[in-house]
Amino acid sequence: MPTDLTPAQALQRLRDGNDRFVQGADRTAQTDIARRDSLATGQSPIAAVLACADSRVAPELVFDEGLGEIFSVRNAGQIAEPVGIGSLEYAVAVLGAPVVLVLRHTSCGAVKAAAHGGELPAANIAAVVDAVAPSVQSASAGLADGAAVDPEAVGAAHLEATLKTLFDQSGLISDRVAAGTLALAGGTYDIATGQVEISTVVGA
Ligand SMILES: [Zn+2]
Repeated sequence: MPTDLTPAQALQRLRDGNDRFVQGADRTAQTDIARRDSLATGQSPIAAVLACADSRVAPELVFDEGLGEIFSVRNAGQIAEPVGIGSLEYAVAVLGAPVVLVLRHTSCGAVKAAAHGGELPAANIAAVVDAVAPSVQSASAGLADGAAVDPEAVGAAHLEATLKTLFDQSGLISDRVAAGTLALAGGTYDIATGQVEISTVVGA
């Protein structure tokens, strides 16, 4: 059975869990043997999260959620590419997740690499940087010649671009948002404070 939480209720639960994480409150996340046993025959996550692979941004930890609660799709720079979009669609269509959250974070290495340019330490990292590059362009618009672009402005632009990619490339996501049965949200995790600011929500 999928969760019976509405999109708005699921988002509130994520916000409440993050508040506990920020404050260092006792964790309520269920990760014990009983919880594991209860999930042996199925899962009903409350959210699908597309997050950066950064080791400091583990979604289950920053939202104080347990086993079976968050369907995580992660790569450097939380790039929305076909396999990832298909994975998110699986979480929504098959598992009934009522929220798709794109989670960026401050001081993201992928964003900095795209913003600063220069030689990359390995060839395939180019795929990450190239995916962020359009947001470097948009964040640089209006800057004086030679002025350095702010990586956080690039990260914010990249978050909005990623949400637009999901909305435009997934008919499932856009249809369910329109129907009010799915929230598509964007958030920024502050690696210093632990706070997730959910700045963009459609569909809830
Ligand atoms: Zn990152």
